[in-house]
Formats: sequence, C-alpha cells, structure tokens
Amino acid sequence: MDIKALEKEYIINTYNRQPEANLLIKRGEGVYVWDEKGNRYLDFVSGLSVNNLGHCHPAVVEAIRNQAEKLIHTSNLYYSEPQARLAQTLVRHSTADKFFFCNSGAEANEAAIKMARKIGKQRRGPGAHRIITAENSFHGRTLAAITATGQPKYHKGFEPMVSGFSYARFNDIDSFAALVDEDTCAIMVEPVQGEGGIYPATAEFLSGLRQLCDSNNLLLIFDEVQCGMGRTGRLLAFEHYGVVPDVFTLAKALGGGLPIGALGARGEAADVLVPGDHASTFGGNPVTCAAALAVMDTIMDNGFLERVRKLGDYFSGKLLELKADLPYIKEVRGLGLMLGLEIDGDAALVARLCQGKGLLVNCIGGKILRFLPPLMVEEEQIDAVVNILYETLQQAQNTQNS
Ligand SMILES: *Cc1c(COP(=O)(O)O)cnc(C)c1O
Repeated sequence: MDIKALEKEYIINTYNRQPEANLLIKRGEGVYVWDEKGNRYLDFVSGLSVNNLGHCHPAVVEAIRNQAEKLIHTSNLYYSEPQARLAQTLVRHSTADKFFFCNSGAEANEAAIKMARKIGKQRRGPGAHRIITAENSFHGRTLAAITATGQPKYHKGFEPMVSGFSYARFNDIDSFAALVDEDTCAIMVEPVQGEGGIYPATAEFLSGLRQLCDSNNLLLIFDEVQCGMGRTGRLLAFEHYGVVPDVFTLAKALGGGLPIGALGARGEAADVLVPGDHASTFGGNPVTCAAALAVMDTIMDNGFLERVRKLGDYFSGKLLELKADLPYIKEVRGLGLMLGLEIDGDAALVARLCQGKGLLVNCIGGKILRFLPPLMVEEEQIDAVVNILYETLQQAQNTQNS
C-alpha cells in the first residue's frame, strides 16, 4: 500500500494534508525539499517556523549524532549536562534568569499558565487566577492553551473551556486595561501574532502592557513560540520593542526540528515553581537539548541575525513592489523573515499554483499567504520566489476577474 493510503487507514484524521497539495516530502537540504518523484521545492513554510536553519543543518545533525551515541535519555531524577548548558546559553542571550524545558509550544504555555496562577495567588490573593489574552491569538492545542487562544473556532466542540481566561483586542491597550480586576494574575500575548495572520504588535501596545502589569502586579507573558529564535531578526521578537516580559515561551525552531519547548522566567517568577509543582518526562532530553545548543550557537554567531534583518527588509521590499503592481494584494506586513501577504482572493489557490511552480508557501485564514523562509535563505532564492509569486498572483487575479 502506498503511504497516502496507509495514512488514511491508520492515522486519526486531525490533519488536513492539503488535499490539493498531495505532497510527500522525502528529503530536505537547506532551503529545499524533494518529493517522492524527485521534484524540488523552495520551502518557505519551514515546518511552520521550525526549520529556521533550513533542512538538516550540518551543525544540528552533528550535535544529534554525537549526543545520540553518548546518552539519549535518563530522567529528571538526575542531573543533565546538555539541559544545564542549554539553560545557561539561553540565559546568557536573553532577559530570563532561569528555564524550564518541555516538549512543545502548548506545553511551554501550560507551564506559563500554571506559573501565573501560582504567583498570582501569592502576590494578589487567593482569587487571582484570571489571564487576559488577545483576540485572534494562538497559544497551542492543549485544553488550557486552546482556552488561552482567542479564536472561537478552536474551542468549538470541546467546551467547557478552562475557567479564568478573557480576551481583549490586540494592539488596543485600553481594551486590556478595561479587563484587569482583582481576579487577574497575568497578561499573555504574542509579540507578532502568527497563526492569527501575521500581525506585529505596536511598540506603544507592548510598553503599555508592561506598565499595566507593573502597576497591577501582574505577570507579563510573551509567547515567542513562532516569532522567537531569530525569526524576526532578533533572537526574541520582543527585543525589537525594548519591553521585557516576566516570562516568555519558546518551542518550534528551538530544537532545529526536534521537539522541545522552553519557558524562561526572570526575577521572582524564576523561583515560584518548586519540586512537585510541574514536570515533564522528556523535558530537557539530552538529544533535543544538544540540538538546541547547536541551533543557539548558529543563530548567535556573528552577523547571523543582522543578515536576517537585511533579508527581511529585502523580501518585504520586494513584496511591496509586487503590491504596487498588483491591486490584488491588499497588505504586506510582518517583522524580519516572518511576513504575510493579504490578498483580495483565494490564498489557498495561490499556494496551490505556487507549489506547481516549485514553491511551498502556507495559506492562513483563506486570504493570507504566510512566508516563513529558512533564515539562511539567499537573496537569489528570494528573487526566485518573488518571480513565482508575480506570475501566480497575476494568474489568480485574472482567473478571478474573468
Ligand atoms: C505553534 C504555536 C504554539 C503551539 O506550539 P506546539 O508546539 O504546536 O504545541 C503556541 N504558540 C504559538 C505562538 C505558536 O505559533
């Protein structure tokens, strides 16, 4: 039986494997992947901002191989060298004082939610458990994480939701301030909303949230799962804003393709969880931590992030040129190499046409093309993508007008 038929028979049907895409990827190297027939594609999906260093980056492959030969797993009953070293490296390059490791973005946010509730009770009294998040946000698929996610479509069918969440308008500080009451313990937002359609926060909004949290003794949590790890041209997206959160979460690109999540906390928050409060069997696994160390070494290498910022400007400049040419394009937005193109038409159709021309790009919300290229992409590859987009968008625009 072929693989597609095997999946249909044996995998619980939670994923829409882009039926039109019908793609089985066999191999990846750098910014390219190859399908079963040997066709090559420029991968501007990057595993949804996981393959930030491209596919099978040699430093990541080597780190995984070396660690796998030494020790694959012990338990958090014992000390772990890769885990300790990864935490040290992350602390050195971020605003956090300490880290907790888990296996995914949703789990990192769960840890943040538990931390917020515990610290809320200590700081503001036994009732303080409510967390304010943003409409249109995305925080993962576990029960508390979908509740934190301010999009009703992710709640539908799974009610009742976890209690103690409320939703305010993103980039609207008054809307957040209006929801703060004596039961509130934290505010959680993505500095750049990803899944919701690539919406960067404004500087006034994030600094407003910081002030709001300071004056009410609330925990400020940034979800950096998608926008972190160099994606925007800084290790963490909030660095662009000069606003420091109490807690931030990471996952996606941290492990170079292996599953790892992390929560970084500073100050008082770094010491609020104690033995017995939280744990993860695989959290801080030696192999995933060794891979993450290789990712950190690569991203923090001289000039790497500066190059991402330049490429981000280059790519968004090219997309704005396209917009000037094609009224079909409504908006270009994003930060660094996390870019969205909103069109007045069917973005899924455009994504499908792009695939036929050797470009993988993701469509969100029906009208938005999301670009998450590997961070080591070359200008010529961006040019190739822009050419494909130009042809494809023209084609789609004509189809729609005819
Ligand atoms: C993907 C994502 C998550 C969930 O991560 P998983 O590893 O799929 O659990 C959480 N927050 C944001 C901002 C994300 O983009």
